Amino acid sequence: MKALFSSIAVATLLLAQGPSALAQSDAKRSVTEIAPDVYRLQNNFHYSMVVITGEGAVVTDPINADAAAWIKTEVAKLTDKPVSHLIYSHSHGDHASGGAVLATDATVIAQANAPDQIDGVTPTLRFEDTHEFTQGDKTFELTWLGPGHGEDLIAVVVRPANVAFITDAAAPKRLPWRNMGGANIDQWIDQVRKVESLDFEIFAPAHGNVGVKADATDARVYMEQLRSAVLAGLKEGKSIDQLKQTVTMSDYKDWSNYLNWLPLNIEGMAGFLVASGQAN
Ligand SMILES: [Zn+2]
Repeated sequence: MKALFSSIAVATLLLAQGPSALAQSDAKRSVTEIAPDVYRLQNNFHYSMVVITGEGAVVTDPINADAAAWIKTEVAKLTDKPVSHLIYSHSHGDHASGGAVLATDATVIAQANAPDQIDGVTPTLRFEDTHEFTQGDKTFELTWLGPGHGEDLIAVVVRPANVAFITDAAAPKRLPWRNMGGANIDQWIDQVRKVESLDFEIFAPAHGNVGVKADATDARVYMEQLRSAVLAGLKEGKSIDQLKQTVTMSDYKDWSNYLNWLPLNIEGMAGFLVASGQAN
């Protein structure tokens, strides 16, 4: 009890000092089985996926070095087999750092456009459009989503569970990240369409809550409605501040990050439409 109390006291002290005082090991973590042998591993606001096949563990994004070490520990609790495959959803550093500890004995898979090394890890298997492999009783279908959010973004569908691991292109009932990072948003919308074209039931995103396939369509419709509302406003000569007053997207007020990120989504969309010459 004393130990428990002191760890609470330490946590409280750290929280009082603000998030920057929290060490990586204080990350919010959880392991959730979302389908038979398919696990979602949370490290703060990022999620990875681990699938146990009977012949090994197939792991997606390492997230970062500390998270990857933790993922390896959790895998060892689920199976006595090694990590057989490390699959990078894409090469963005917040999902793809620290993979070395998971790559040791694994086939390391990335899309062809990924850099030669991803935080020091060299992919051993690259593919252009699709790659499929079976291990034990599980099949993995990897599909490039095309350019948009990054150049090397893929979806991973696991069978027979029909789970899709989707990173950054879309997430169930959650606004796109902040100002959408200067991406070509029309291409990004096409990436979400590509997700919609895949055959799956459970939508396991790298951010936010688990959903279903229809959530991908809702995410794409959100982006299209935002696009047309911002474009109409720009053509009426509205400023960014005026757009933030008038583009309310109120159908989405229950989605996560609505209040924080809608103004940034509007900025990002307006920036893209102006820069791509579509707002004239
Ligand atoms: Zn990304």
